[in-house]
Amino acid sequence: MGAGFSTPSASLWAATASPRTASMTLQAPLQVDVAIIGGGFTGLSAALHLAQAGVNAALFEAFEIGHRASGRNGGQVVPGFKPSPSALIKRFGEPAARRMMRLGYGCADDLFALVERHQIDCQPTRNGWLQGAYSQASSDYLGQRSREINAYGGSTSYLDRDALRAATGSAYWPSGLLEQSAGAVQPLAYARGLARAASDLGAALYDYSPVQAIAAAARGFQLQVNGHAVHAQKVIVATDAYTDQLVPQVAQSYVNVASAQIATDPLPASLQQRLLPLRAGISETRKITYYCRLDPEGRFVIGGRGRNSDKLDPATREQLRQAACQRFPELHDVAFSHGWACRVGMTIDDLPHLHQLADGLWTAYGYCGRGVAMGTALGRVLGEAVRGTPAAALEYPVTPVKRLPLYPVRQISAMAALQWYRLRDAMGYPG
Ligand SMILES: Cc1cc2nc3c(=O)[nH]c(=O)nc-3n(C[C@H](O)[C@H](O)[C@H](O)COP(=O)(O)OP(=O)(O)OC[C@H]3O[C@@H](n4cnc5c(N)ncnc54)[C@H](O)[C@@H]3O)c2cc1C
Repeated sequence: MGAGFSTPSASLWAATASPRTASMTLQAPLQVDVAIIGGGFTGLSAALHLAQAGVNAALFEAFEIGHRASGRNGGQVVPGFKPSPSALIKRFGEPAARRMMRLGYGCADDLFALVERHQIDCQPTRNGWLQGAYSQASSDYLGQRSREINAYGGSTSYLDRDALRAATGSAYWPSGLLEQSAGAVQPLAYARGLARAASDLGAALYDYSPVQAIAAAARGFQLQVNGHAVHAQKVIVATDAYTDQLVPQVAQSYVNVASAQIATDPLPASLQQRLLPLRAGISETRKITYYCRLDPEGRFVIGGRGRNSDKLDPATREQLRQAACQRFPELHDVAFSHGWACRVGMTIDDLPHLHQLADGLWTAYGYCGRGVAMGTALGRVLGEAVRGTPAAALEYPVTPVKRLPLYPVRQISAMAALQWYRLRDAMGYPG
């Protein structure tokens, strides 16, 4: 079991979501077909889809459902991938890249359909998602990106300065890209709603039930959960940036970075009308990016890179406040009443990873800040994988797990990369 199970500071979402209805903790040994480790979007979606298929599945979460990134993110439901279609085709070949683009460009639609189907009460809104440029080079990049994505099934449009200004109420960005199928949810409410839907379908969900070890056993795996033995034929590891020592080979294959957010109380109506009138969330093409949106009650929420993954420090709070005021000067005198932080799992190739770690042992992680819709999608794919769909027929490429180069100094390397990205951003390179 890895270290780092400290209790982070409370988020806006924890303050406003309906409480989790029924919850239970593992108190006795158990035998299941599929054990799922981690109660975020990836694990919950796997549990829901497995239960829907009639599989006997149990999910174990170290804290409460949605305790980490899934309950603490920006709630922006963003389809697609950071790498362009041509980069995906070059790397995976045309058939596999087309399959993954179908999944990626459709994953926001899929999420909203799931919310509708299971009547998940999570304030879904579908006003798109914007990506703001910040230099001429990044404007050119977005124009090209929009054309490419649309040619492969995406639905984006390029917005020039005036169009972006009309959509955001801000003159900060010189141009932008609108992802039309995107939207937003209250993320903790969405996680709790997925949990409720999975339980209704027969999945067993255990809160406060940390998995302390996984070992190969006859006909499957033996897990140590909350001090009790659990036997499972198949196991899904869905612990993303919190994998730590549970599966060292996974923990050694990504970098986790801190992301922090601050939020206001509901803004006065006149200000709500001027800010982000399209009501789409916005992020940026920078490598070190800020992202913001108005929630349905008119709270302004902004996030960006943090210093500490478990609580919001004063310097980060001030940095986020200043970023908010640069983009929306009207926020200058507005108080930010909430602040929180969490780890984000980042991969070196900017793509989520799907791995088969052993026969019957699967994982998906590393959503690089786009895990609301993609985590839900890859949870479904993990469910298909443990039900026996051959790797080559899955909707997402299965890759070998690779230890990061310079793993022992990966967080130092991450800091060096950060400085490099800051320099690139300052020089106006596109994302
Ligand atoms: C501040 C922030 C803002 C973000 N904003 C957005 C956004 O707007 N849009 C977007 O698409 N993405 C966003 N992301 C990314 C997104 O939140 C994540 O990619 C996604 O939630 C990952 O889901 P997951 O289920 O894989 O992991 P998590 O939600 O992190 O879930 C993993 C779970 O595993 C549990 N766990 C770990 N170890 C064990 C163990 N040994 N036993 C049992 N349980 C264990 C953890 O407690 C945790 O609950 C953001 C992330 C952060 C941190």
